[in-house]
Amino acid sequence: MKAPLLTFEEALGQLLASARPVPEHESVGLLDVTGRVLASDLVSSIAVPPHDNSAMDGYAVRCVDVTQPGVRLPVSQRVPAGASPAPLAAGSAARIFTGAPIPSGADAVVMQERCRADTDGVAIDELPRLGQNIRRRGEDIEVGASVLSAGVRLNAARIGLAASIGVPQLNVLRRLRVAVFFTGDELREPGEVLGPGAIFNSNRYMVRSLLAMLGCEVTDLGIVRDDLTATRDALRRAAAAHDVVLTCGGVSVGEEDHVKAAVESEGALSLWKIAIKPGKPLAFGRVGEADFIGLPGNPVSAFVTFVMLVQPFLCRRMGLRDVGPVRREVPTTFDWPRAESRREFVRVQLDADGRAVLHPRQGSGVLSSCAWADGLLDVAPGRTFAAGELLPYISLREAN
Ligand code: AMP
Ligand code: MG
Repeated sequence: MKAPLLTFEEALGQLLASARPVPEHESVGLLDVTGRVLASDLVSSIAVPPHDNSAMDGYAVRCVDVTQPGVRLPVSQRVPAGASPAPLAAGSAARIFTGAPIPSGADAVVMQERCRADTDGVAIDELPRLGQNIRRRGEDIEVGASVLSAGVRLNAARIGLAASIGVPQLNVLRRLRVAVFFTGDELREPGEVLGPGAIFNSNRYMVRSLLAMLGCEVTDLGIVRDDLTATRDALRRAAAAHDVVLTCGGVSVGEEDHVKAAVESEGALSLWKIAIKPGKPLAFGRVGEADFIGLPGNPVSAFVTFVMLVQPFLCRRMGLRDVGPVRREVPTTFDWPRAESRREFVRVQLDADGRAVLHPRQGSGVLSSCAWADGLLDVAPGRTFAAGELLPYISLREAN
């Protein structure tokens, strides 16, 4: 049967519709949660900051006591950060430092640069405003506020925020378990002798790096020979105890391409021809309990297909709410006079003015174009454009 030609949106839609987030949660200490996905909403049981505190080094006063600039007040107490001050005596000032709790009764802090201290007091050289230089209790987070929602990836600021509300560990989804292997009798590992007809297994290192950036737990079965039995064996081993099996190469319909037949014998498979360039063939199916994804062998096709289709699928499986890829409009420096029938993801680099510059070699074997690019320009089928027109651009810098 001839494989149907899918649009990019249809392929992405089908992938996302079938992506079930991993069901298991675990509690992980804050020092180890970078990149993990939050499993449940995080609600604060405290206010942050927990007390009104000073935004400056200076003097805490009552505004009514400073009747004119230059008023002299005795210094009734000293309040460093971490102290628990007494109420401010009327008609006095408290020496106070950044982050220190505001003594009750004080209603402003005058920065020390506007004060002159001497042995028996301090002269306040400005008329303070009510609440000046006071950071209010709950200004960042109020008691009961939802601070993070389920499905966000934990990054530095979010982890810091969790710590600020005193939570030592977070409920995160278990890591996605992905098994990978790479088919092709021509493949050698870097460090081996190349020999006639051979090439290095570049996709392995590229795919492993992409998976590492996503935070997947990877089992790598290495190179599998172009042989049906070997491919079926590898598939069975890969499917056991993994959420996703990801392979590279062997999904065309040549007689040396055994992945399709192997998945059909061990599970179920749809071989998709997607109207994208580069890319086109993508195999999607199941082996046992695991999802199966077969990337094309051409390195650029594998890279673009991963970024545009497989990454959103894996992100949804990992439980992420936003799965990208995120597009923004950028002007181009080049013309695109000939319409393509397939949607094309063009390797570009933004210049100093934020305009997309085209890599001169867009062939699906030219991995240098991906190494050079900082993004992909998303050129719709049938689209032509002239330099200066705006097109959707997908950054390759930001992992989701
Ligand atoms: P295939 O999909 O197996 O027909 O492979 C298509 C092209 O990609 C061929 O030129 C292969 O040599 C090349 N290729 C396949 N797998 C890899 C890999 N792991 N690393 C680099 N190139 C590959
Ligand atoms: Mg092959």
